[in-house]
Amino acid sequence: MIYLKTEDEIELLRRANLLVSQTLTEIARQLKPGVTTLALDTLAEQVIRDNGGTPVFKGFPNPYGPEFPASICASVNNIVVHGVPDARELRDGDILSVDCGACLEGFCGDSCYTFCVGEVKAEVRQLLKTTKEALYKGIETALPGRRIGDIGFAVQQHCEAQGYGVVREFVGHGVGREMHEDPAVPNYGKRGAGKQIKNGLCIAIEPMITMGSREVAMLSDKWSITTRDGKPAAHFEHSIAIHNGKADILSSFEEIERIEGKQY
Ligand code: MG
Ligand code: MG
Repeated sequence: MIYLKTEDEIELLRRANLLVSQTLTEIARQLKPGVTTLALDTLAEQVIRDNGGTPVFKGFPNPYGPEFPASICASVNNIVVHGVPDARELRDGDILSVDCGACLEGFCGDSCYTFCVGEVKAEVRQLLKTTKEALYKGIETALPGRRIGDIGFAVQQHCEAQGYGVVREFVGHGVGREMHEDPAVPNYGKRGAGKQIKNGLCIAIEPMITMGSREVAMLSDKWSITTRDGKPAAHFEHSIAIHNGKADILSSFEEIERIEGKQY
């Protein structure tokens, strides 16, 4: 069931999302070749807890295996989503998608950013640029009276026009007291299809876009999702609230982009 939020609830959701954004910003500050994703996870958990939040991903149940052990998903290069932080050092030229969820005052924030580690090849930076653009194309479409399929259509069109793959197996979702609420928000779809968008709807839009084929597979850790062809994938996510007739972005990339400078 879709649970539309009040203005007060939207403000709480914004606070939870800004904590997630603050966490991703701290990661942006520490990110460089030689750093491990395990160290970034420790940092993320500290930022979340120091600000009174709870990491939502930690202990997240898994129908296929062990619960998620960390506070961030850290997905390097060909890993699309759900990468498990580990002691491997990041290398110059890697890309790293950091997905983070934090609960604050009963509401869940959810946002993801794909970072460049050192100097990244131009063709990979182009994938990042397109995926981020697709996220904003989806957000622009999320207006009262439009439909969920319009969001997926906008994302899919933008990415497939450049020859990229749009992952089907994982999708965006409603956000609120639970990190994953109704409705599902696919990154593909038909114009005018799906549930109607109304004021009070709060959703996470999160394109997962591949450089090659859109086919994915699960690794033996039962979490990490890789591209089947081993090519890189990017993932950007904002949580948004549709209210007062427009889409209000609750998470923020502003500080991250300031730290990064112009990369693409
Ligand atoms: Mg997320
Ligand atoms: Mg999400």
